[in-house]
Formats: sequence, structure tokens, C-alpha cells
Amino acid sequence: MLVNIIGSGIVGLSVAFELALSGHRVKIITRNYEEGASWVAGGMLAPFSEGLGGDMLSLSIDSLKLYDDFVYKVKDISNHTIFYRRDGILRVLVDDEVARFQNLAQDYSSMGFSYEMLSVEALRKDYPLLSEEFDKAILFKDEGNVDAQQLMDALIFALHRLGVQIILDEVIEVKKEGKRIKCVKGFKDTYNGDFFVFTPGAWGNAHLDIPVYPIKGQILKIRGLDIDRVHYSRIAYVIPKESYVLIGATSEDVSFDHRRTVAGVRALSNNAVRLIPSIDRCEFVEVNVGFRPATPDEMPIFDRGDNYVVSAGHFRNGILLAPVSSKIVLDIVERGLESEYFRIFSSERFPNGNHTDKAKKEY
Ligand SMILES: Cc1cc2nc3c(=O)[nH]c(=O)nc-3n(C[C@H](O)[C@H](O)[C@H](O)COP(=O)(O)OP(=O)(O)OC[C@H]3O[C@@H](n4cnc5c(N)ncnc54)[C@H](O)[C@@H]3O)c2cc1C
Repeated sequence: MLVNIIGSGIVGLSVAFELALSGHRVKIITRNYEEGASWVAGGMLAPFSEGLGGDMLSLSIDSLKLYDDFVYKVKDISNHTIFYRRDGILRVLVDDEVARFQNLAQDYSSMGFSYEMLSVEALRKDYPLLSEEFDKAILFKDEGNVDAQQLMDALIFALHRLGVQIILDEVIEVKKEGKRIKCVKGFKDTYNGDFFVFTPGAWGNAHLDIPVYPIKGQILKIRGLDIDRVHYSRIAYVIPKESYVLIGATSEDVSFDHRRTVAGVRALSNNAVRLIPSIDRCEFVEVNVGFRPATPDEMPIFDRGDNYVVSAGHFRNGILLAPVSSKIVLDIVERGLESEYFRIFSSERFPNGNHTDKAKKEY
């Protein structure tokens, strides 16, 4: 089957990877494969630290379970290094979160996931860099941390090896007839195929009737902090990678404003130093900007027609949700199997279509 994928963020590349591995002919049409949020993401695989519940938790757990295998395959085919750890995330709690997270941790444990409620003594001994302002934390042992940039690089190399064509073009029109896509028009060419997958990230409402809008995130890169594990708190998260540490992230409803701002850097630095005071002495490397694909209820959108799937709105968790998002597409293309997530996460839950300002107010 010839499958055209529109968008080359983590979702598009992962879908392309699974389809190409299964022997399909895949073309990716993308305006700019470096503009996606995926290149700047923190790479935390953190459904429990995020305090997720309900359908969003089920989707995230399904994806977390696929992660080891996904990273293994991408590493193997790309022959690239990918920093990937599954040794848990330290969820640092502020007072008004404690009761809620104690209950959540018990719920997650009843589903088979491990956690440890740390005593003050254990916290001071094992996490000596954490500020003494914080004396409560949970270690969610099944969570993970992947270098999103390395994963993206490796995926591009793997796709190259699998013969996937990446075409630089901007899709400007989607020609539809009922529940079928006839073709997709770009500035340079018109694309025909047997199947289409739309993974447009925060730009999703430009040509599709879905309420996706950007939430800007600024994220710092620093060097010289010796921590092994992600420290995730409500005020800041500090994410160690192989040779640097990320500090995230602002959350700004300012449309596609690409500017790196003094206010953003100041807020991130102050909050990070409050969490881990020795960050003050670290080397500042850079600050990056990405646009999270948000929806009014902060959950993704999975829509399908006779020959297409839309996979969008992954908001704060697109890196985590990449493997399950590609499995959902693969199940349709390979086996005609429709995941229950199409019903749960259909865009029909937003009766106002892509009128995001209105939808944002009403949900
Ligand atoms: C600061 C920050 C920190 C984050 N941290 C985490 C984290 O720790 N863990 C986690 O799981 N997630 C995290 N996220 C969220 C995650 O980055 C996103 O959910 C994810 O990257 C979305 O991937 P995507 O493939 O849908 O979109 P993107 O990566 O944004 O890619 C979309 C692609 O579509 C292309 N495109 C759009 N429109 C068109 C068009 N008309 N024609 C052609 N191409 C088009 C774009 O050029 C782009 O290449 C973070 C995000 C930010 C900003």
C-alpha cells in the first residue's frame, strides 16, 4: 500500500517507521521537519507524575508498555545511540498535592505499577541536591526518560534505511469526498495514495476540522548538574540526559510566537534554582521553543475515514504517546482493526469543529 503521511514530528515519523517495517511504501510530506515540538520536548515518559486518570491514563499506559520495544527497534535499524532510561521519575510534591498523589499512587499500584513514598531521611540521603524546602516525594518506578532529539534523529536515519521518502512541501488543501480523501495538494505537487495519515501537530486546524491550537513551551538546556533521575515538580522539572540537563517548561497561550523571552528564561531559572539550588552554578547552554498541540480538553484526537487517519492533539505527552499512536494506525492499515480509542478520542466530542476560541471557552 502507498501511504502518505503529512507531518514529520514524533507522531508522523513513528507511524512511518511502523508502516515501513511492515512493508508498506511510505511518503512523508512535511513543511519543515525541524519545526515540530518533538525536537525540543523534555522526553519524560511520565503518566503517573502527570497525575493522569481515565482514558488518558489507559492510552498512556498502553504506550509506555510499547516503549522498550519501540526504542530497541529504532536503535537497531538506525544504528544510532538513543539515551533511554526506565528507572523511574522522582515526583516532588508541594503540600496541597500530597493527599491527591497518595491516592493516585495507590490506584496506579493496584494496576501493577510500583511506587515508593520517600521519607524525609531517604529524600535527603538519596537526593542531596534537592532543596530542603521540599520534604515529600514519590518515586514512580516504571516511568522513563528518553532523549527526544536523539530519538527523532534516529527515526530519520531508520526511515532512510527503510526507503521512506521525506518530501519538503506544505500541504495547502485536503481534497475530500465523503469519508474518502481524494488527494492532498501541496505547494509543489499533488499527492495521491491508498491511505493518508495526518499528523500535523499544533498546526492541525489549518486544513482539518479539528480544534487544535498551540501552547508555547520554552525549555532551557544547562550543563554541569550531577543528577541521575528526573526531578518532576509542579514548579519545574529537571531532566538529565547523557551530556546535558533540560529544565522545563513554560506554558504560554500566545499562538505561534517563536520568541525566546527574558521572562521565560527568568521564570524557568528561578523555579529550577528553587527546586535544586546548585543549578545556579551550572552552565547555561541555550533555550528552545516548541508548540504543544493542545485541544480544549487536553486530550488527543484520533479520527478516521475510509482511507485516512488523523492523529493529533497530543499536547504535553506526544513523546510518550508515539508508540501507541503508530500502533493504532498500523492496526487499521494492516488488519482493518479499529481501536476503541477512535470512539473515545474522536473529534466529534467537540461540537464546534475547529473554532478553537469558542471551543476553548466552552470546555
Ligand atoms: C517544551 C516542551 C516540552 C515537552 N515535554 C514533553 C515530555 O517531556 N514528554 C512528552 O511526552 N511530551 C512532551 N512535550 C509534548 C510533545 O513534544 C508533543 O506532544 C509532540 O512533539 C507532538 O508531536 P507531533 O508529531 O504531533 O507534532 P510536531 O512534532 O509539532 O510535528 C508536526 C509536524 O507537522 C508539520 N506540518 C504541520 N502542518 C503541515 C502542513 N500543512 N504541511 C506539511 N507539514 C505540516 C510540521 O512542519 C511538523 O514537522 C513537550 C512539548 C514542549 C513544547
